[in-house]
Amino acid sequence: MNHSDIRHFINGEFVTGSSGRTFDNRNPVDNSVIGQVHEAAQEDVAAAVAAAKAALTGPWGQLSMAERTEMLYRVADRINERFDEFLEAECLDTGKPRSLASHIDIPRGAANFRVFADVIKNVPTESFRLDTPDAAGAVNIGHRAPKGVIAVISPWNLPLLLMTWKVGPALACGNTVVVKPSEETPLTTTLLGEVMNECGVPAGVYNVVHGFGPDSAGEFLTSNPDVDAITFTGETRTGEIIAAAAAKGLRDVSLECGGKNAAIVFDDCDLDKAIEGTMRSAFANCGQVCLGTERVYVQRSIYEQFRDRLVETAKGLRLGPPSDADSTLGPLISKEHQQKVLSYYELAREEGATVLLGGGQPTMADELNDGCWVEPTIWEGLDDDARVIREEIFGPCCHLRPFDSEEEVIALANDNPYGLATAIWTENSSRAIRVAEKIEVGIAWVNSWFLRDLRTAFGGAKQSGIGREGGVHSLEFYTELKNICLKL
Ligand code: NAD
Repeated sequence: MNHSDIRHFINGEFVTGSSGRTFDNRNPVDNSVIGQVHEAAQEDVAAAVAAAKAALTGPWGQLSMAERTEMLYRVADRINERFDEFLEAECLDTGKPRSLASHIDIPRGAANFRVFADVIKNVPTESFRLDTPDAAGAVNIGHRAPKGVIAVISPWNLPLLLMTWKVGPALACGNTVVVKPSEETPLTTTLLGEVMNECGVPAGVYNVVHGFGPDSAGEFLTSNPDVDAITFTGETRTGEIIAAAAAKGLRDVSLECGGKNAAIVFDDCDLDKAIEGTMRSAFANCGQVCLGTERVYVQRSIYEQFRDRLVETAKGLRLGPPSDADSTLGPLISKEHQQKVLSYYELAREEGATVLLGGGQPTMADELNDGCWVEPTIWEGLDDDARVIREEIFGPCCHLRPFDSEEEVIALANDNPYGLATAIWTENSSRAIRVAEKIEVGIAWVNSWFLRDLRTAFGGAKQSGIGREGGVHSLEFYTELKNICLKL
């Protein structure tokens, strides 16, 4: 793929579209321009949706489930065969360490096609025998049909992984898709178009349009009446706009949105595990993980020990570009996001935080100095109503606060409009379950973080989203369940 000229993928072909407009795709490592991305006009998006609609009744719609799932296995295999190209593209767009992208982003991106092909083959639908007055009875059979054209709107933090997390189940269920990747990370979604063609996926089944949100590809897609359902991952504010767009025509919507996740560290935890897990949950992907921890509550008797060890360990994080094999922390995604995170670093000081580590912009080698770097940062001492405690920052930072009792920490963790995930650290399993049941989140980890079984439910409570995806839960969104009643 030519990284310098990124086109839409519509009806099996790479096209420049009709707007005549392009925008820069930048490398966050040094802010250099990787290439130009074509911005879709309304008619380009309409063409992609029309191709997706036509493909529903074309060769794709005639495939047996076995043929369709075989095709998706081939897609997974082909991503792995072209692993290095996907890796290079993802690292160019995001600047994340190669070690991270090669362990998480690319293999999980491929696995999403395999797992949902397996799910669709193995999930039964319901059946009920009904007695009738004439004694002959009736049989009810549940039948799952594809929902139709699915709009997939994805974010920049785990571009391939989060996009295929939606495209995998959508295609496994027999739908067609139009994907609008984040304007910050267009490469791997485009490269996947080549893979679809190589694997014989019929034209129109997988389409990609590039552009921004409002008054651009995102809005053109979500407002298109031939889109049957919209699945979105991104900020809660954007989720609200997309839910409003989906309301027109009563289209189904799945929203995976922001978080301000709490870690809860009890004094009976295995401290080594808690430190290792909190390091990952606060700093992995430079803190740009929706499930990441930005609030850490630590039981008072081990507070100072935990704090000192976390700060000491975090001093070992190494900022660097993907080409540096020793780097453990990449840059943020963009200059705009860098400014946002730095503004929270400033706000933390104004709100009275004690800065235990970092708190600013690092000095990098000359060739990297224009990149989107920020220091990993740890604070303590903020009030519970500080904005830094309440708002999602989405950077490599966390705030530590001591607590005394279980009841107190449950109330603290729940005192937030978001409800995505939590990580609880304790060796007492009764306490772990008792607390996990009371935290208002969609995902609760005990003694781990980001340990994902793709068959399980994934999604957020409160303002972190609507609906669940993963395993059979994805089938609820990507299929229309019909009851067929046969009178005997
Ligand atoms: P964002 O909301 O800014 O953008 C996400 C996508 O929506 C992009 O493709 C963008 O172009 C598009 N978009 C923006 N405005 C739109 C509009 N009006 N109509 C249609 N499309 C529009 O989010 P982001 O900054 O790319 O991602 C970071 C956010 O995503 C964080 O809040 C993070 O917590 C969240 N996130 C959530 C999950 C989850 O599973 N819950 C996973 C990853 C990221």
